[in-house]
Amino acid sequence: MNDQLDIIVLIKQVPDIEKVKFNLKTGRLDRSSAGAVINPFDLNALEAAVQIKEKKGATVTAISMGPKTAESSLRDAIARGADRAILLTDARFAGADTLATSYTLASAIKKLGSFDLVICGEKTIDGDTAQVGPEVAEFLGIPHVAYVEEIREVNEDGILVKSKMGRNYYVIELSFPGLITVTKDANTPRLPTLKDKIRSRKAEITVWTADSLSDVAEMGRFGISGSPTTVAKVYAPHTEKRRGRIFEGDPEEAARRIVSVLKELNIIG
Ligand SMILES: Cc1cc2nc3c(=O)[nH]c(=O)nc-3n(C[C@H](O)[C@H](O)[C@H](O)COP(=O)(O)OP(=O)(O)OC[C@H]3O[C@@H](n4cnc5c(N)ncnc54)[C@H](O)[C@@H]3O)c2cc1C
Repeated sequence: MNDQLDIIVLIKQVPDIEKVKFNLKTGRLDRSSAGAVINPFDLNALEAAVQIKEKKGATVTAISMGPKTAESSLRDAIARGADRAILLTDARFAGADTLATSYTLASAIKKLGSFDLVICGEKTIDGDTAQVGPEVAEFLGIPHVAYVEEIREVNEDGILVKSKMGRNYYVIELSFPGLITVTKDANTPRLPTLKDKIRSRKAEITVWTADSLSDVAEMGRFGISGSPTTVAKVYAPHTEKRRGRIFEGDPEEAARRIVSVLKELNIIG
């Protein structure tokens, strides 16, 4: 291991949820209706990495797979403290399900060589599967801890974290190289200063295509061809409204009728 930790943060660009519209006919997000921002949970992932860098010394690399426009989110990541950024963009990456997305991201991490820690957001606000972090860890053959709410200690060999799964908290030691996914409670993401924003405009963003990964990946496992699943339909679940009945008249008689209705419905015996 080097003197400094090597931390990789995975960042997805998502539609600005304040502005995006939902196309009810197709059941899909109309991504053209809104600007794009860093997935909010990935801001927590980035903040966690930058805090480790400030305390222990680290190089923070942000990686995003997406269209060319995702470059703006990587510049934002640099303004918020990442040291360098890599954009994975290619028509051959398009249409990826979570498996192909994870494979592509893991391949880019393999290409980088050695690293200590990968930090992801808990989930995205558009896909919302929370699968990519753990899948990337599996592709890399490294341990992971999901839903990290607190990073308690970092040393040169590993990290001590508190994770919340279901109703339980777990305090877990994770050896490097490892991967964590963080929740929104892990920290409060900083806002970039104007100076940082100006600096990030001039930063070089490395662009890798499918061919750039040819020495570490199989081409057929990217994008649609590497995706065993497709989304058939997206729809909001039907919600049943509360049905109310009013029993009027004499209170005792009304109470008797309520009891008999509740018995009919098997709510009371
Ligand atoms: C069955 C299925 C089919 C799909 N088909 C399509 C399709 O045809 N076309 C299409 O555009 N999308 C498709 N998607 C969406 C696409 O697969 C997801 O956007 C992508 O796999 C990431 O999944 P997620 O958003 O649920 O991420 P999550 O697993 O919720 O994300 C967890 C974390 O992983 C990291 N991460 C996730 N995605 C990226 C990324 N791209 N770059 C860097 N870091 C990332 C972030 O740190 C994030 O916080 C499909 C999804 C599914 C489940």
